Amino acid sequence: GMQAPERSAVSDLGLGGRILLVDDRPSSYERLAPVLSAEHTVDVEPNPTEALFHAAEGNYDLLIVSLSLENFDGLRLCSQARSLERTRQVPILAIADADNNARLLRGLEIGVNDYLTRPVDKNELLARARTQIRRRRYTDHLRDNVQNSIEMAITDGLTGLHNRRYMETHLQTLAEQAATRSKPLALMMLDIDFFKSINDTHGHDAGDDVLREFAVRIRKSIRGIDLACRYGGEEFVIVMPETDQQVASMVAERLRRSIAGEAFSIDKGNKRVEVTISIGLSTLEKKGEPVADVLKRADVALYRAKHDGRNRVVAAAA
Ligand code: GH3
Ligand code: MG
Ligand code: MG
Repeated sequence: GMQAPERSAVSDLGLGGRILLVDDRPSSYERLAPVLSAEHTVDVEPNPTEALFHAAEGNYDLLIVSLSLENFDGLRLCSQARSLERTRQVPILAIADADNNARLLRGLEIGVNDYLTRPVDKNELLARARTQIRRRRYTDHLRDNVQNSIEMAITDGLTGLHNRRYMETHLQTLAEQAATRSKPLALMMLDIDFFKSINDTHGHDAGDDVLREFAVRIRKSIRGIDLACRYGGEEFVIVMPETDQQVASMVAERLRRSIAGEAFSIDKGNKRVEVTISIGLSTLEKKGEPVADVLKRADVALYRAKHDGRNRVVAAAA
């Protein structure tokens, strides 16, 4: 049951890679580079002090480093490449003079992936390069997959905001931070008014457009440290650290106006629809208070905003 991307990652032959060959001996690189060029794109860097910079900038699939550089320790270059963020994941193939096992051992300890000893056999060189490039592509692919599933686990697919589960976990942390630093924390719960009738009148896709645009406007009106999430269907929660009720009311009111003040575009921009929201506001009242209580007070305030006529902000009674 492999997915297509997995299949192509597994069946990749390791051809067509980008290789940086760090070698300062013309007699060596003039022989090795053409061999590699038959299957890959090869850059030669004869200046070892430039090599790290070159490697970091070049987006390479493989570094091949000669360990017999003039006046420069190739192993040092390998270890620098391992510690630099931009080159950490790039495989390194070392080329050593024969009878230097001690250095090779050190190389493997600091993260050299494979080695060849001189005189280098052409076919062996090609085979090792392919293996490293293939492995590099496969681990890149795995890393992307993990990254994707982490993102999917914490974000809402429609709006790109955080999802409810992430918010509830993170809210706990934010509340604890607020308590230990004696800072206020505000939370608003927002619900689109008569959203069902937007769906009924213009269709479910138009409803989705409104939700997406709503998320865009939310992002525009909050700070980087605020946490916005889609809490459920057409309900959203924004957590605002270091914000007291007075400031939170201003933010909420500004957001309410930004929604009511400009109609939402639907149906690929062919139609516009008026949207309003109701907002319930609460703040963390005392240290150690369960975050569920803060959410509950915002929810009660939201209910009042609905009851009082919608398109308004109601702050929970302290
Ligand atoms: P109120 O002013 O009281 O909030 O009224 P309302 O119509 O907004 O509230 P109600 O809870 O009756 O309806 C919410 C609607 O939101 C019902 C549901 O079909 C719709 N909805 C929930 N999730 C989505 C979604 O992802 N996309 C679309 N298009 N509609 C959704
Ligand atoms: Mg609603
Ligand atoms: Mg609702």
